[in-house]
Amino acid sequence: VPSPPSSALQIQEQVTLAPFTTFRIGGPARFFCEVGTEEALLEAVRFARERGLRIFVLGGGSNLLISDAGFDGLVLHLAIDAPTQTVSAGATVEYQVAAGTDWDAFVLSVCEQGITGVECLAGIPGLVGGSPIQNIGAYGQEAADTIDSVRALDLESMEFVTLSRDACGFSYRHSIFNTTHRDRYIVTQVVFRFDSAATPKLTYADLTKHFAVQIAFGETPTPIQIYRAVREIRHGKGMLLVDGEQDCRSAGSFFKNPIVPATTLAGIATALNLDPATIPHWPAGEGQIKLPAAWLLERAGFVKGFALGEAGISSRHTLALINRGQATANDIARLRNTIQQEVSARFNITLEQEPVQIG
Ligand SMILES: Cc1cc2nc3c(=O)[nH]c(=O)nc-3n(C[C@H](O)[C@H](O)[C@H](O)COP(=O)(O)OP(=O)(O)OC[C@H]3O[C@@H](n4cnc5c(N)ncnc54)[C@H](O)[C@@H]3O)c2cc1C
Repeated sequence: VPSPPSSALQIQEQVTLAPFTTFRIGGPARFFCEVGTEEALLEAVRFARERGLRIFVLGGGSNLLISDAGFDGLVLHLAIDAPTQTVSAGATVEYQVAAGTDWDAFVLSVCEQGITGVECLAGIPGLVGGSPIQNIGAYGQEAADTIDSVRALDLESMEFVTLSRDACGFSYRHSIFNTTHRDRYIVTQVVFRFDSAATPKLTYADLTKHFAVQIAFGETPTPIQIYRAVREIRHGKGMLLVDGEQDCRSAGSFFKNPIVPATTLAGIATALNLDPATIPHWPAGEGQIKLPAAWLLERAGFVKGFALGEAGISSRHTLALINRGQATANDIARLRNTIQQEVSARFNITLEQEPVQIG
């Protein structure tokens, strides 16, 4: 007979998940538990194991498409938010950040201290515990650039372990957490390491354009200036969560930029009757290139403001599928399938969904 949970552990039943996601979509969790400490996490996992329940870890809900049927197991809402510890040694500064800390609040505090390394990741929704999962990235930076290690509960050994950056296997929108070791680790803390003497490097056109005058006068913008600029640029693209704005009812970019053999370019050029040199792309190593998914969508007719019932495309960002009001997960899936089929038929490219699919 499973033991009852201790009074410290508040297990709720049939909790609707939609309000916990930025899409505002998702049916009920059979069981739901807010976890504020590592001890509570262990207890909650034992609760699930004794009852044979599957576990789903919910962070800020900003990278999820949860089905209308919900989740028939235990949803653990990771809310561990102990104060950030800062350790300085010479020119190195290290931040030990609890998984439940708001990502943007952490970025702001780093930038306010004049430290460079995460300023381009300003305004990304979600919690710190979610940052290593898909190795979040934007405007030329990614979390893996500054993550030193990740502390996590290993569900195989039921021990807390520290994974070095190398052990996390980071690459573009990937880590072991969303590939080879999916569902094995629950992240409770992330340690970031910065060179406190470094100065910001701007690589992205949107940002160099924003600071063109400053750069022309030989000045380097400070991390906090870049933090504010990134948020402003993101807002213009509907990529900042702002209360009441329909374009924010999304999970960010819905499709990953596809990495394909360089030879694919010729096929696209033929299909569109274009000079291959005019097709935007970036080198991705080993004879591969990365193509902007947004460009492919637009060329296939899926432009900003496109609507299919209650689901649609943001009026400010081609890659963000949005909930136009009362969309269900099925509505979003219908739009996703329509786009994927059309892009595949036209360019022979399979677009991969970025948000994690639940149910
Ligand atoms: C408007 C908008 C803009 C966005 N812009 C960007 C962007 O520029 N770049 C980018 O990379 N992403 C972007 N995203 C996606 C999203 O914000 C990030 O992926 C974010 O890191 C997700 O964190 P979260 O806490 O919300 O995780 P959730 O959405 O709650 O979960 C996502 C996945 O991570 C797992 N997970 C979460 N926390 C933990 C944990 N502690 N331990 C183990 N597993 C965990 C979940 O189980 C799930 O599989 C955007 C999203 C939105 C809505």
